Amino acid sequence: MIEVRGLRKAYGGTVAVHDVALTAAPGRVTGFLGPNGAGKSTTMRLLLGLEQPDAGSVRVNGQAPADLRWRLHEVGALLDGRAAIPGLTPRAHLRSLALTHGIPRRRVDEVLELVGLASVATRRIRGFSLGMGQRLGLAAALLGNPHTLVLDEPINGLDPDGVIWVRQLLRHLAGQGTCVLLSSHLMGEMAQTVDDLVLIAQGRVVAAGPLADLLRERSSAQVLVRAHRTEPLGAALTSAGAMVTAPGDGSLEVRGLSADEVGQVACDARVPLSELRPLEVSLEQAYLELTRDQAEYTASVPGRQVPA
Ligand code: ADP
Repeated sequence: MIEVRGLRKAYGGTVAVHDVALTAAPGRVTGFLGPNGAGKSTTMRLLLGLEQPDAGSVRVNGQAPADLRWRLHEVGALLDGRAAIPGLTPRAHLRSLALTHGIPRRRVDEVLELVGLASVATRRIRGFSLGMGQRLGLAAALLGNPHTLVLDEPINGLDPDGVIWVRQLLRHLAGQGTCVLLSSHLMGEMAQTVDDLVLIAQGRVVAAGPLADLLRERSSAQVLVRAHRTEPLGAALTSAGAMVTAPGDGSLEVRGLSADEVGQVACDARVPLSELRPLEVSLEQAYLELTRDQAEYTASVPGRQVPA
């Protein structure tokens, strides 16, 4: 369980995290999403006790990070897959972690097997690809069979099989009661993996809650309507206060009115409808809407701004 309240951290004049509140519950995978520079890695370092906040409180499994006694049993973390001595082998790296945390040696071979590195257990880490480094980072995070996992971009650099494997592994661990907090930029993958979502932009939480609720709320904010006579319908909807866009396929996308209200406006304007439904929103669309203009770095794409 992770509970963060009122978290604030500044580096010189840059406030990386303003008043962040976040909960990640046991038995659930919580996605931590946000544009570059939003404050995800800073929050993760703070909740692992690797840095001290300027204000606010962090509880991991009910305790302050500094008070966690059997650390690797309490919280497993992957912040940087390359954080291992390059001259070591994966087995030696994991054995040194196991030794200093009272974890039996056989667990090292178990996690090497689990993450698919058993066949390279005696190769030097120096020659590892990004994906192999990520697998090794995951092995270290899983070594103590922790109650809580904090994973920063764990699927970065993994091939498609690896991505699916991580998804299945995290779902399995959550099914056994583990609390998983993970950040990723891969929206499609997040949508398939997480139960809950915390969306952060410019150091502030802009949305949080179950993924299904978040998408449902945003879906009900837009209605698709189709009619033969779109012009009088568009005019009636606009004068009823809606924002109307015409994608050009004979439909109208309506914001600001519910599906019921759109139906009533069409009825009053005597325009027969052939379709009326709330528009389903993908996680990617919801993310772009919620974080629009909030990325620290943006790239110009014809027609709109997207986070870099
Ligand atoms: P994210 O992980 O969401 O990309 P970060 O937490 O890395 O965001 O960064 C949040 C903000 O804090 C950025 O403006 C970043 O430049 C700044 N920042 C993060 N770590 C440091 C640091 N050690 N020193 C100075 N600025 C930092």
